[in-house]
Parts: sequence; C-alpha cells; structure tokens
Amino acid sequence: MARDHFGRNIHYLRISLTDHCNLRCVYCMPEDMTFRPNAELMQDDEILRLTRLFAGLGFDKIRLTGGEPTVRANVVEIVRGIAATSGIRSVSMTTNGLLLSRLAKPLAEAGLQRVNISIDSLAPEKFHRLTRWGKVEDVWAGIFAAEEAGLTPVKLNVVVVAGYNEKDVIDLARLTLEHPWQVRFIEMMPFAGATELQVSRMVTAAQIQEWIEAALGTLEPANGGKLDGEARLFRLPEATGDLGFISSVTRPFCASCTRARLTADGILRMCLLREKEVDLLTPLRAGASLDDLRQLILDAVWDKPWGHGLSEGTIPLNRVMSEIGG
Ligand code: SAM
Ligand code: SF4
Repeated sequence: MARDHFGRNIHYLRISLTDHCNLRCVYCMPEDMTFRPNAELMQDDEILRLTRLFAGLGFDKIRLTGGEPTVRANVVEIVRGIAATSGIRSVSMTTNGLLLSRLAKPLAEAGLQRVNISIDSLAPEKFHRLTRWGKVEDVWAGIFAAEEAGLTPVKLNVVVVAGYNEKDVIDLARLTLEHPWQVRFIEMMPFAGATELQVSRMVTAAQIQEWIEAALGTLEPANGGKLDGEARLFRLPEATGDLGFISSVTRPFCASCTRARLTADGILRMCLLREKEVDLLTPLRAGASLDDLRQLILDAVWDKPWGHGLSEGTIPLNRVMSEIGG
C-alpha cells in the first residue's frame, strides 16, 4: 500500500492518455494550443507497464483522462489492458463525450465501468462559445450512448465561467429531475494557458448552489452528507439524480485526497495544483529496474504535498490543465 507522510492511503491514479483534444474550452487551453508529438507520449505498452507497477503498489482505481482520452488511438485496447490488470477494480473515464456515440459500447465491453462527461451549457451557441469548436448535440448523443452501454451512473461535469454560462446552471440542475444522473458543478481552477480568464471569471460553488436553490427549491444533502470523491452531494425535491458541488478552490478536500496523476508524457504529479513532478517515462525507457521505478513512485507518494496553495496565491504555471489531466 502506498502512503504519504501524512498517513493518506494513495490508491487512485488518473492517467492522461493524451494531451491532444478535439475541443478548445476557453477555461482549459488557448485556441492555438500546440500538442506534444506522439513519440513523447507514453506508448500503449508503457501505459500498461506503468499501470501494473502502480497496481502492485496498491493502486486499485484508475480514471482515464486527457486532453481528450477518446481521441487516443487504440483507446479501447488500452482500456481492455488496464481493466485486465490484476488489482485494478475500477476503471472510469472523463471525456467531453463527442466520440462516445461510437465508442461507448466498445469501451464498456472492454471493461470501462463509468464515465464523467463534460457539458457546460445545454444551449448550442453558449456551448460553442465555451468550447470554441463543439456542438452540444454531439455530447447529448454521447450521454445517451453511455447510458445505453451501461456506463452508469452517468456524471456530468460543468465548469461555470462568469459571463459565459452562469444562467445555464438552472437548466443543467433540472436534468436531475428526470434523469438518474449526477450533475456536478466544478469551481474553475487557475493554471497556465488561460490564467487571466480562470482567475477573473471564477464562480464559487456556494454562489452556484444559491442560484439553484433560488430557482428550484432548497437542496437536501444526499449520500448521507459524505463526499462522493470530491463532490458534496445534494438532491432537488422529487429529483431522481443528484447535484454535486466541487469547491476545489474555496473549500478544498485535500485532507481526504487519495490521488496521483500520470501525465500523457509519463510524469507523476502528486497534486493537480502543485508544480512538483517526477519523471517515470525517461527511466522506464532507459531500462530502469522495476525496483527502481517502484522506489521512485513510493518516494513521490511519500512526499505528496498536503494541499494546494491557491489561497496564498500560488498558481501552478508549468502546465495547462489538459496536459495534466483533470
Ligand atoms: N477532455 C475531457 C473533458 O473535458 O471531460 C477530459 C479532460 S478535462 C481537462 C477534465 C475535466 O476538467 C473536465 O470536466 C473539464 O471541464 C475540467 N476542467 C478543465 N479546465 C478546468 C479548470 N481550469 N478548472 C476546473 N476544471 C477544469
Ligand atoms: Fe479538451 Fe477537456 Fe480541455 Fe475541453 S476541458 S479543451 S474538452 S481537455
């Protein structure tokens, strides 16, 4: 089991399959973003070798992310390999959903269990403005394909950006009246690439909750008041699904964090919002022994920072969000 020096059991790995993406969300990356050449990214066998190493150290939960994980060549086979890895009991994915109408079924058959799909507005023009390139109807098709493929409970991720989609939170929250989905509102975090927008247009989870309650009624705590991952869960009166609030900036959940992140170029990052990183891919390619690689991981886990430093004004600027994997 991998523990950090605060006693947290670190067993959840988010693997970024690629930094490439088929959208350019304004809060994530600049429109003229340049991506890493494929040779710099972990190859399929390298992802699986590192997954086996992490699994051997007690990591049992994997989330695939990016960039956009579904644009990765061989994504279905990568999922199959990860799901078949001894010790891995949960494989999920965060995706923009654009390609799910084609991929949901094969991914589910390969062993993917659940998806989080990002959708920041139900209004086509606003969705397009936020994502720069996206069509909301493609995401809708992806959501229903995911549901049909049994990738449930479907969770929808919403980043709220002032001046873009504040009003849309009501319609998004309303989805839970009819659908057994979890609609999660995520506070925008600052990174490189879009820092000015991320800082100046951030909307707090408390504010979003207030707008929803004013429009749709008082929310009841759900899930026995316990966090679901990083989300505080609530339910609208008569709803079939839940609302989640992820207040990473204003009310961080660092004390209960069990995560590590592996970037698409094979770098281990122990806190999303801290710049410190440990390169695993270079030693792997240089022929490091399994013991040496294990020790690199265990040392990085041991040194996992307690939490982020946003309240002191420390913003991680060495990578944009899509390069780390959300
Ligand atoms: N492309 C996939 C997607 O959009 O779902 C997966 C990668 S994306 C980086 C993962 C999640 O991070 C998405 O839900 C996205 O909305 C969210 N995200 C991106 N930039 C963010 C930011 N600056 N603050 C908070 N969440 C952000
Ligand atoms: Fe792509 Fe996801 Fe970033 Fe949007 S949030 S640009 S879909 S990686």
